[in-house]
Amino acid sequence: MELWQQMIRDSIHTVDQLVEKFNIDRKVAEELDEFFQARINPYYLSLIRYPGDPIWLQCVPDVKELEDLDGYEDPLLEDAMSPVPNITHRYPDRVLFLTTSQCGMYCRFCTRKRKVGNSDKISMRQLESAFKYLEEHTEVRDVIMSGGDPLMLTDTMLEKIIKRIRQIPHIEIIRIGTKMPCVLPHRITPKLVEMLKKYHPIYINTHFNHPWEITPESAKACQMLVDAGFPVNNQAVLMKGVNDDPQVLKELFLKLLKIRVRPYYLFMADETRGANHFRTSLDKGLEIMFALRGNISGLAIPHFVIDAPGGGGKIPVLPDYILHRDEEKIVMRNYQNKIYVYREAKNEENKIEVEISGNDNGKLPKPKKLKKSAKAVVSEYEIT
Ligand SMILES: *Cc1c(COP(=O)(O)O)cnc(C)c1O
Ligand code: SF4
Repeated sequence: MELWQQMIRDSIHTVDQLVEKFNIDRKVAEELDEFFQARINPYYLSLIRYPGDPIWLQCVPDVKELEDLDGYEDPLLEDAMSPVPNITHRYPDRVLFLTTSQCGMYCRFCTRKRKVGNSDKISMRQLESAFKYLEEHTEVRDVIMSGGDPLMLTDTMLEKIIKRIRQIPHIEIIRIGTKMPCVLPHRITPKLVEMLKKYHPIYINTHFNHPWEITPESAKACQMLVDAGFPVNNQAVLMKGVNDDPQVLKELFLKLLKIRVRPYYLFMADETRGANHFRTSLDKGLEIMFALRGNISGLAIPHFVIDAPGGGGKIPVLPDYILHRDEEKIVMRNYQNKIYVYREAKNEENKIEVEISGNDNGKLPKPKKLKKSAKAVVSEYEIT
């Protein structure tokens, strides 16, 4: 047995352990176990610094999960958009391919609770209809292996699946969505990396949510992946008490860049049953994005998106930078809340910059209907 497999075995997962380790009432622990089982491996457990900290919140079951009757079981309609078992096909040219229901740690906020954690093994035979679907759908050029966590599969099983996908000529890239570099970096072994290298181009999408998750071990795992030629991107979820703070996300994103992981998405938390207590307001997210953009490298700024309930896909949301536009010009604010006017192409004059004074509370005047000339716009802002 490999070390990482032993660490999975040594995870906290029974009701007894929950009662003992985290002082959870037995009755509640039983209900939580029924609702969504726990799995906290010794590595991730060691990252907890104090009860209720951002690491704890992500992995320790909480009675609040049971009190949430509001959320959806499958907010993103992944099952309704599944033409064959294990495939979700939402976008024109790429699909999600669920290859296992197991993960290295079970995140309490998981959107796929309904699928994740039950230990039914998925066999190659069960995946046959998915392979067939991929073969028949020549418009698919990007397969995103997901789960669960595909790196819970053994190297042998993983290679069988990837080899099979690689035999399909129209599949250009393979992505592996895995939280292992964050929750169990010991899974990234030289043997695994050597195997995967044979099937390039492979992209890795990982999932760090908090700067404390970036440790010597996780940095090493990411280094091994990047050195072997896998671009590594990060998908984080904005969560109350975990990372809903510009300073925390700034630190996370900058630390990711230092280990050559590119922040790719920041998600608003989904409306998943049992995870309502993690949700933040959209304003909070927009405030954080506004605080980051411009102040740190653009490489550190992910796309901020809402995965639309009802299966609409990821919809980007941005703070309002464009304050007004008409046929002639676009009035914008920059990251410092200063106003600039960009003229549409017809106009030959230069850009005019205006600064608003006494406006450091982040609130901007609502632009009125603009006059004809940019000069008029300028004077309107100056007197506001
Ligand atoms: C997120 C997602 C993808 C991949 O989207 P990208 O924007 O290309 O990263 C594909 N299919 C489904 C169903 C998804 O949820
Ligand atoms: S690793 Fe992903 S699929 Fe697994 S529990 Fe966490 S969020 Fe859910």
